[in-house]
Order: sequence, then C-alpha cells, then structure tokens
Amino acid sequence: MRQKMRTAVFPGSFDPFTLGHMDVLTSALKLFDSVIVAVGYNHLKHGFLHPDQRVRLISDSIRPLASTGADIEVVSYSGLTVDLCRKHNAEFIIRGLRTTTDFELESVIAQANRKMSPETVTVFIPASHEYSFISSTVVRDVIINGGDASSFLPSGIDIKNYM
Ligand code: ADP
Repeated sequence: MRQKMRTAVFPGSFDPFTLGHMDVLTSALKLFDSVIVAVGYNHLKHGFLHPDQRVRLISDSIRPLASTGADIEVVSYSGLTVDLCRKHNAEFIIRGLRTTTDFELESVIAQANRKMSPETVTVFIPASHEYSFISSTVVRDVIINGGDASSFLPSGIDIKNYM
C-alpha cells in the first residue's frame, strides 16, 4: 500500500531567514516528505525586508538542500496558517523552540490552531544549542547598525542583495 505524503508547513516572518530557521528546516525534512516554508506577512505592518525578498533569500538559502532532492517549496501568505495548510493539504505545522518563553507562546498558538483546524497538528522542533541564540530581531539589529551578520545567515547569503 502506498503511504500518504506527509506535508508540513513551516510558517514564520523570516525577516530575515537565519541559520536557526535553516536548522529547524533541516530537521523537519527528516520527518516529512515535503516542507512548505511560508513567509507570513501583514499588509498593515511594514517589515524589514519586503516579503518577495524574504522568499528570494529563502529560495537561495535552500538551494543546497533542494539539490540533494529535498522537497521544499517557498511561498508567502497573509491570513491564517491553518487556511494555508488546508490549501496545500498539509496536516502539520512546524515551529522551532529556543526557550521556555517560546514554548509558552507557541503552545497557545498551537492550541488555537488545533481548535480552528482539528486535523492540523503542530510539531515543535528544539533549537540546536549552537543556533539557539539567533533570532531575526538580533540579526536585523546587527544589519541596521552596520555590523556583519553573515555568521547568522545561511551560507552564501549577502543581505545587501535582498534589501
Ligand atoms: P514568527 O514571527 O512567526 O515567530 P520567526 O521568523 O521569528 O517568525 O520564527 C519562525 C519560527 O522559527 C518560530 O517557530 C521560531 O520560534 C523559530 N525560530 C526562530 N529562530 C530560531 C532558532 N534560532 N532556532 C530554532 N527555532 C527558531
């Protein structure tokens, strides 16, 4: 009997996508047949990078993974993550956890999503210790203040090409 494809959505602001996000994505690919990295944006909030540039940065970052045959799609969306999951027939939502604060926030969101869409299960992936200090907020601060953020970003990514 053929097994059903296990598709997961990895949603986030990804403003910008960091080595921490890359690490979560790499782990998720061990669990799922296909992962959709979904850049969530809000029309009313002006981000650091334009959502199209975030998608481009992620697409460039994942090229080495995709070239090994990993099934990854990168999309942008606004609205509810559970609606995006339904649209793509994805039964899983992936979120990364760095701290207990992340867990507290994320578990509330996971419960709300479960209530709205009982068929959708959230899977938490713990941060690797070498990346657990990386956040998009810190990376943005480094970039805005003229620092070198390359050690926080996926290899080969020059942030200037996306700003
Ligand atoms: P959001 O605004 O939706 O929280 P982020 O882009 O900040 O979006 O994060 C997306 C997901 O990646 C979240 O689940 C977040 O906890 C996780 N994440 C962010 N940085 C790291 C990291 N360094 N290690 C593991 N998970 C991370």
